[in-house]
Amino acid sequence: MRRRCRTRRVLKWVGTVVCVLIVATWASSLFCKVTYITDSFAATLAYGRFYLIQYEGTLEDRRYFVAEYKEGGGWSIARVSIGKYGGSGRKVLSALGFGRTFRSKDGPYSFGPALITQLGHVKPLWKPLAFIIVPTAFLWWLDRRRIPPGHCQNCGYNLTGNVSGTCPECGSRI
Ligand SMILES: [Zn+2]
Repeated sequence: MRRRCRTRRVLKWVGTVVCVLIVATWASSLFCKVTYITDSFAATLAYGRFYLIQYEGTLEDRRYFVAEYKEGGGWSIARVSIGKYGGSGRKVLSALGFGRTFRSKDGPYSFGPALITQLGHVKPLWKPLAFIIVPTAFLWWLDRRRIPPGHCQNCGYNLTGNVSGTCPECGSRI
């Protein structure tokens, strides 16, 4: 029983920390965008959402439409224009710093000979938050302090045999 309470307490705090981290990530993603770029995709965290954009074409072309593209790829951090939230399609691409794009018959969007083959996998951060916050809140509710009858409701002191009307431990009225 005691072990179970301990596990619950640990889970409760882990859940709380994860929730705080998600909220902090969401807040920072409104100001800057963190991108991981490779030769075939750009994974971006911005505007409170996670985007995965796949493309193909030559290195030269990618340099045109992915602002942060550098040879070999890797991590990059850039400011986003506040209030320019991506909606869908072309608006998302322009908010994420992709260059001029247009619909093409070969893929959803293209720029010159380079092609954005997949625009999607947009994951809003509130989804994992909602997924974790509910069980965490439930654990907090389970773990709320329960003081058995016959004890001071303020500090938990055992009041068996006490007739004075005040708690000898904390002085509160019974
Ligand atoms: Zn008391």
